[in-house]
Amino acid sequence: DLVPVRRALISVSDKTGLPELGRALAARGVEVLSTGGTAAALREAGCTVRDVAEVTGLPEMMDGRVKTLHPAVHGGLLALRDAPAHVEAMEAHGIPAIDLLVVNLYPFEATVAAGAEEAEAVEQIDIGGPAMIRAAAKNHAHVAPVVDVEDYDALLAELDANDGATTLAFRKALALTAFGRTAAYDAAVSGWMAESLGVFAPRRRVMGGRLAQELRYGENPHQRAAFYAETDPAPGVASARLLQGKELSYNNINDTDAAYALAAEFLPADGAACVIVKHANPCGAARAASPLEAYRKARECDPVSAFGGIVALNTTLDAATAQAILELFTEVVIAPAIDDEAQALFAQKPNVRLLKAPGLPNPGAPARAARQVTGGWLVQDADTRLVAPETLKVVTARAPSEAEMRDLAFAWAVAKHVKSNAIVYAKGRATVGIGAGQMSRVDSARIAAEKARAMAEELGLPEPPTVGAAVASDAFFPFADGVEALAAAGATAVIQPGGARRDAEVIAAAEAHGMAMVFTGERHFRH
Ligand code: 5GP
Repeated sequence: DLVPVRRALISVSDKTGLPELGRALAARGVEVLSTGGTAAALREAGCTVRDVAEVTGLPEMMDGRVKTLHPAVHGGLLALRDAPAHVEAMEAHGIPAIDLLVVNLYPFEATVAAGAEEAEAVEQIDIGGPAMIRAAAKNHAHVAPVVDVEDYDALLAELDANDGATTLAFRKALALTAFGRTAAYDAAVSGWMAESLGVFAPRRRVMGGRLAQELRYGENPHQRAAFYAETDPAPGVASARLLQGKELSYNNINDTDAAYALAAEFLPADGAACVIVKHANPCGAARAASPLEAYRKARECDPVSAFGGIVALNTTLDAATAQAILELFTEVVIAPAIDDEAQALFAQKPNVRLLKAPGLPNPGAPARAARQVTGGWLVQDADTRLVAPETLKVVTARAPSEAEMRDLAFAWAVAKHVKSNAIVYAKGRATVGIGAGQMSRVDSARIAAEKARAMAEELGLPEPPTVGAAVASDAFFPFADGVEALAAAGATAVIQPGGARRDAEVIAAAEAHGMAMVFTGERHFRH
């Protein structure tokens, strides 16, 4: 898979590092073809260059719009060297094989960022450059496409390491960068056009997709927004069918996604699960034998917050559950299946958005998550992990009972879907207190307990449901105070990643209150 580099085509707008590259290639006996400005710069650096115009037999024309767009160039980039017909065609038409392409594009992005007029911006849309890049990248079996000044050193190192040749692995890595570059370039052009036409579109699409819905507005009415779906979306809000109700809003979509992703953590084979979400955080989640029971338990956790919430089920929405859900104002309901009877009941409240998803997403399927920061993007693997029960480490003298362990596992799964700092109290596989999004862990622990206490008082319960609860903390306790807060609320078991400098103090606090504690060794920050 070694390709000796005998001939290169260099056509660059950014001439950084060009003289050095030209001399280095000349020293390795590489013949260089080049376009107008690039050829001039290379000659100035003392390199011998052949003009592309000589190869095409045509001058550069139309203000440079047409320089390299010619079969004599593209044939040399695209020909398969091991296909006799391709080689014959090259010979018949005097097409020189090009083994290395070095191109960087007209600076469209920089031109637009500098506030250029429309005509100038249009002129800076490179046509021949991307065409050559794509041709060479497609033919990476035989051609090395370099699109980045930063890759010149690696190119020369590659040639030196392989006696003047490139390896297939190297060419593939370059092709990957090359297609990424042309995709980003066209995204910049389309984003600029959208902006100048006053059409809303994201400035750049990180992951491919199509416009699924133009939204009335974003998180707030003064923000424009759109919903893009992947080409083949996993089961969820992007692939669900809206059976009734107004179209989904930006916040509906975001919250429904949060709710359904948590519901999908629980296999339907192990029973029904129900999640109620408000502002992207669960305000109740439960597992039970039936969806009705799961819904009731989920709602009991925080019935005040559940008002106007998003309800997600991991199983069929039946009539009994539909009836219960309709007792309380609900924005959206999503389930993988919906009974006819349930659907008929919903029809009486036509404003409730009812979504049928084409199944449950696999919570372990690899995915990407991206978000924008000022001037950039953060991209990471989605948090698809969930620790296996057998890898948990008991760190207290007392191990959790079977019931506690069951609730710990449940609370841990929920905590993964709660904004940090997350503290989740659970009992009987239902959340009984959720502390979300606090800047200190101890506050999350206290808020969850206080809400549970107030709820118990309102409902006239003999004691808050946090008494005897198992608790999950999405990240380690930096101090013992968090555990003290859990103990004060009556919790008896805790699951957390461990790994704090003060773990010994944290464990000692658990021991002092007779609590069982297990470490997961893995955290689930969610910001
Ligand atoms: P030079 O400075 O060598 O005259 O021009 C180099 C630039 O021209 C590179 O950015 C390259 O992408 C671009 N280019 C090469 N061939 C063509 C073509 O046929 N049409 C257009 N519009 N640009 C080209």
